[in-house]
Amino acid sequence: MEANDLIYVAGHRGMVGSAIKRRLETLGYQRIITRSSGTLDLRNPAAVDEFFAAEKPAYVFLAAAKVGGIHANNTYRAEFLYDNLMIAANVIHAAYKHNVTKLQFLGSSCIYPRMAPQPIKESFLLTGVLEQTNEPYAIAKIAGIKLCEAYRDQYGCNFISVMPTNLFGIGDNYHPENAHVLPALIRRFHEAKVNHKPSVTVWGTGMPKREFLFADDLADACVYLMQHYNEKEPVNIGIGEDLTIRQLAEYIREVVCYEGDIIFDDSKPDGTPRKLMDVSKLHRLGWKHSISLKEGLVMAYRDFLQQDQFKLQS
Ligand code: GDP
Repeated sequence: MEANDLIYVAGHRGMVGSAIKRRLETLGYQRIITRSSGTLDLRNPAAVDEFFAAEKPAYVFLAAAKVGGIHANNTYRAEFLYDNLMIAANVIHAAYKHNVTKLQFLGSSCIYPRMAPQPIKESFLLTGVLEQTNEPYAIAKIAGIKLCEAYRDQYGCNFISVMPTNLFGIGDNYHPENAHVLPALIRRFHEAKVNHKPSVTVWGTGMPKREFLFADDLADACVYLMQHYNEKEPVNIGIGEDLTIRQLAEYIREVVCYEGDIIFDDSKPDGTPRKLMDVSKLHRLGWKHSISLKEGLVMAYRDFLQQDQFKLQS
């Protein structure tokens, strides 16, 4: 990827796409193209084809997706399957048809079997049953990986896939029900603090373990792999360490400076018990994360406060 190459970042308004765009700009890439979902609906094959025909990008980061936490995944099951399948199929097919030099597809750690041995290696894909709460999303992401592999096998396209672990960062979604656990808890602890509530309720038993990567670290890894990785097999992107939801809630309580209690609501689903990524392949390829969970939490809380302030003013 040269400084003058035309690079399309799909999903540039999302937390991941915006971090990839920032990273590319920092590194001096000058010709980055983007489209908001209002201007280009990636679920529409004709619109996507027209866009690729007109713009002819050389490199594509496919970071556009319908995403959300356990509740959103489990509730909007049709949308999570349909939207993500259509986005993957349309963009990957158009990239082939319009001779994109290289495409990177972003998946998720939820593509791996629910009871996969830990840490999860890339080779465990399709070796067992998926977690029910996010099966539609996982199936769409698996289809995306298989599209990249099939277009490579049949047409020789240099399409690669990367599998990020659970993410958080600047511009996250802090919706009380639909967000992922980390931003949802930042908001809940903050609101409990300012409203002097005696306790905060955390969903599930608190026992599941999760791994969290800051989105700017992910973006750095994505750009690095775009520059250095050209194989068929997906690459996991994570930090290689996890913690329980209970520990996470305690860290967030500390960062937010909330002094009340934590209560667990086990009527809410736990989801997968654990999904720790094996990141040995990523490390062998020469990339390692640099932002710790605690540093990331401080930056994420600052981001939440800014979004909150903006909401109050507007
Ligand atoms: P997952 O990694 O796909 O399961 O996605 P989430 O980030 O939504 O959830 C991770 C874990 O956090 C699950 O065990 C949830 O039950 C738990 N959790 C606890 N409180 C919350 C919350 O307020 N929102 C969400 N989304 N998850 C929560």
